[in-house]
Amino acid sequence: MTEGTLVLVLNAGSSSVKYQLIDMLDGSRAAAGLVERIGEPAGRLVHTAADGAERELLGAFPDHTAALDAVAAELAADGLGLDSPRLAAIGHRVVHGGRRFTAPTVVTDEVLAEVRRLIPVAPLHNPANITGIEVARRLRPDLPQVAVFDTAFHTTVPEHAARYAIDRAVADEHRVRRYGFHGTSHRYVSRATARLLGRDPAELNVIVLHLGNGASASAVAGGVCVETSMGLTPLEGLVMGTRSGDVDPGLVFHLHRVGGLTVDEIDDLLNRRSGLLGLCGDNDMREILRRAGEGDQAAQLAFDAYVHRLRKYIGAYYAVLGRVDAIAFTAGVGENAAPVRAAACAGLEALGIEIDAELNSVRSREARVVSPAYARVAVAVVPTDEELEIAQQAFALVRGDT
Ligand code: AMP
Repeated sequence: MTEGTLVLVLNAGSSSVKYQLIDMLDGSRAAAGLVERIGEPAGRLVHTAADGAERELLGAFPDHTAALDAVAAELAADGLGLDSPRLAAIGHRVVHGGRRFTAPTVVTDEVLAEVRRLIPVAPLHNPANITGIEVARRLRPDLPQVAVFDTAFHTTVPEHAARYAIDRAVADEHRVRRYGFHGTSHRYVSRATARLLGRDPAELNVIVLHLGNGASASAVAGGVCVETSMGLTPLEGLVMGTRSGDVDPGLVFHLHRVGGLTVDEIDDLLNRRSGLLGLCGDNDMREILRRAGEGDQAAQLAFDAYVHRLRKYIGAYYAVLGRVDAIAFTAGVGENAAPVRAAACAGLEALGIEIDAELNSVRSREARVVSPAYARVAVAVVPTDEELEIAQQAFALVRGDT
């Protein structure tokens, strides 16, 4: 059992590392930062100290080891180096935990081997997450390293919702099923929504709409996730910044056989050149709202397609849940784009879904209700905090609270 109260949260991507040092006594940030362009000649580290002062470090970070060494040096300069006795654990975001990891897990060699075995289903993410863990373990071998999986919250999705209707033997051989992602955010926001409404999560049915550059919806019944929009990969579901979301899988064969595109080209098209970007050339909702406001047809189409898909999912998850108590909007678009929230909920009064235009237009960083008090379904804006959720889960695990 540890005496420290600080948790370092690491989110290692393929060419970046985001970090936050969080004091679990009050959830405050003792430090935060980002290393970008790892492996490129011109890398950059931005470190924010507890008092908000920023330091920028420009230079090459040849690999994740160099990047984390630099992060450790920045933390040490604040008197909170990795050797600090105040550190209780390091929490790692791991994108794919497959079916096995349903909860935060202390990293052992065996856990790491299993995360490595999942690389074929998360080729872009798990390798970077593993590197982050390996480097952190080398720097502090005595400290608990806790993996918190993006997929874990969705492992409760029932089999009939998690299976694709394809040959079971083929699916099993290749671990094909709907895993879902953004789980840490969906979990945090569904619970924060219950807190906001003064309700017990166990008695609340919530549709969570995580609308960032990546976007996903989930249906949470009494605190348990029963359906989510991302699938085998984070490509399924909603229209996103650069990802198509749902398409007819026949599109892939068509583009290959008739269009002559290779599998890699189609992968690139659907993941990086589709969604809002594909429809109108911009993936930033602010820009799309501005252009649509000036009468730009392509931007209007992108907005309408985005909202249409969202409404389809709201309707579908209403049917999945049977009774909906709350709809929670979160992440960059969900927290900030009032017109998206208004359009997503327009005309749904018969379902008990309504938005108060005045409440919806308020700009705030606080969780808030934007539906009228009499509405059957509370529509809420609930800022997500994945780092805090990771820190809380890691801390609870090392303290033996879970
Ligand atoms: P995230 O992935 O959660 O950081 O969300 C990023 C996305 O949020 C950006 O691509 C923007 O489109 C969107 N966003 C951020 N601020 C606003 C805003 N004020 N209005 C509309 N969209 C916003």
